[in-house]
Amino acid sequence: MPMDKKPNRSNRKPTKGNNRSAKNAGFIALLILFGLIIFASVNQPSTLKEVSSSTAISDANAGKYSKIVVSGNQLDITPKGQDKATIKSYVDGGSSLKDQGLNTNKVPITYKSQASGSSAWVTLASSIIPVFIIAGILYFMLRSAQGQGNQAMSFGKSRARLYGNEKDKVTFKEIAGSEEAKQDLEEVVEFLKFPKKFAGMGARIPKGVLLVGPPGTGKTLLSRAVAGEANVPFFSISGSEFVEMFVGVGASRVRDLFAKAKKNAPCIIFVDEIDAVGRRRGSGMGGGHDEREQTLNQILVEMDGFDQGENVIVLAATNRADVLDPALLRPGRFDRRVNIGLPDRKDREAILKVHFAKKPLAKTADLDALAAKAAGSSGADLANIANESAIIAARNGHDQITQHDVTEAFERVAIGPERKSKVMTEADKVTTAYHEAGHALVGHVLPDSDPVHKVTIIPRGGTGGVTWFIPPEDRVFVSLIQFKDILARGLGGRIAEEVMLGEDRITTGAGSDLRGAAELARDMIINQGMGKKLRDQVFRVEEGMMIDRMVHEREYSEDTAKVIDQEVESLITEAANRARFVIKANLDKLEVLKDRLIEKETVDADEVLEVLKGSKLPQTASLY
Ligand code: ADP
Repeated sequence: MPMDKKPNRSNRKPTKGNNRSAKNAGFIALLILFGLIIFASVNQPSTLKEVSSSTAISDANAGKYSKIVVSGNQLDITPKGQDKATIKSYVDGGSSLKDQGLNTNKVPITYKSQASGSSAWVTLASSIIPVFIIAGILYFMLRSAQGQGNQAMSFGKSRARLYGNEKDKVTFKEIAGSEEAKQDLEEVVEFLKFPKKFAGMGARIPKGVLLVGPPGTGKTLLSRAVAGEANVPFFSISGSEFVEMFVGVGASRVRDLFAKAKKNAPCIIFVDEIDAVGRRRGSGMGGGHDEREQTLNQILVEMDGFDQGENVIVLAATNRADVLDPALLRPGRFDRRVNIGLPDRKDREAILKVHFAKKPLAKTADLDALAAKAAGSSGADLANIANESAIIAARNGHDQITQHDVTEAFERVAIGPERKSKVMTEADKVTTAYHEAGHALVGHVLPDSDPVHKVTIIPRGGTGGVTWFIPPEDRVFVSLIQFKDILARGLGGRIAEEVMLGEDRITTGAGSDLRGAAELARDMIINQGMGKKLRDQVFRVEEGMMIDRMVHEREYSEDTAKVIDQEVESLITEAANRARFVIKANLDKLEVLKDRLIEKETVDADEVLEVLKGSKLPQTASLY
């Protein structure tokens, strides 16, 4: 479980409590301050201008005042044209104003009794309450501003998760296969455990190791196992978490992460998807370019700044080592590389065993056969199959995981769950049956295609039906003719519709087949040098994101682009023709398979073989 960076919970509580009481004390201090201000303002010495009583009376008689308020022996005088008293005067308490010569017709006089206790309190309260309300509002505004301030302050903090406790510990034992990778990483474990042994020899301990491999092959797991074996903390962060909309944030997160790591040395920093920040610089592509460069530079600066004694090793994972900036790969940075490939059959079985180990698997379930079928699956896919098997077994009410549950789980993970509830019209069923039978027939007849594993007209995932080909063994390379057979069988569905239902009755059911074929054909021409005219040449197309759209930067001329298009077109046309020849030469077989599909919905490998036995490969469809 990811753990907060703060290592000691018991240390945290008092800190939190202290914060709260500090805040409360602040609030009380604020209130006292306001109270004092009010008190001072209530008792404020008057700022009225004082005049002598004779001046006051003569000015009053001259009609200069609009109002006089008498309280005790004090006069508060409001001059004409003003709305409040600005002058004061004191009269002799013994005689009335009239006696002193005031013409009471010239100015209205109000007599106010000396402020009584209660009214003074009312006055005080009426002035204090709004102030308290304002103080309260101010306090909450301040608090929320502080909160935001804290968030803003933590923006530049790294979001690395720390895995340090026993429960999170992973060891090499839990990783099946990947023997070479484990051997390479054993060395890193030693660097972390016995740094002095190497320092004594004058050796420089590597600072960065790059793990290269497709997604789900266990790069994260291996890195955690290195930390587990060496018994050191493990900081994990993803490259994309460095990059934000705001320039400078990434760099500050990098600084923060390395500072934390150094405090916890010896330890491991694991950067997943390093290509998100470490792409080659200066290609002029991609939005937020400056931000990425700054972040990358900061990583380089931090790695260069490690002292020999610090013993922090950075493990970084990517599946695109080719796009990384060469500066990252220089000696002293990520100068070691560990390649992790998709598991082979033996390793797949071992991984399945690891993941089924704690599950009640029936003795009859054959993991070796599953491993054989699951060619091309990553460790993560296999872990997923094991988990799905358990879910399916539980839902089927079994007390053990049966072979049937495992097969269903495999198919669900590989091509998506069956959608039996989707209702198809009879006409759609016929079209789908012809379509799938077309794929199966062409794939079966062409000699370099993989054998058919299963054909179904039950919708699965996003498709109307599925024809499934599985290679009999793991394949490292794919030949041109194998690609051509894949293209032809991919178009077999559409061509079967065209031949059996008529050119105007072809359907949208072939959409994904056509997209797949176009993509494969383009890859053959651009990346594999398999064109007729453009043989043995490859063309680089770099994709990147501008702020609002994808951009493709290509390193070839318009003329070449045209030739590439022609080559793609000719591959597709050739594939469609080959499929057409095969289908037209075996119409009877196609009909039988279509009928069988309508009747049974799913036809597996043995039955397909039986139905298609004796199908012919016409000379025209052969490329030999
Ligand atoms: P990556 O980092 O390469 O994308 P992960 O390390 O995240 O892959 O792997 C995902 C999951 O796949 C792991 O948690 C583990 O369950 C499973 N897995 C991958 N490779 C192996 C392996 N060699 N042995 C056992 N489990 C594996």
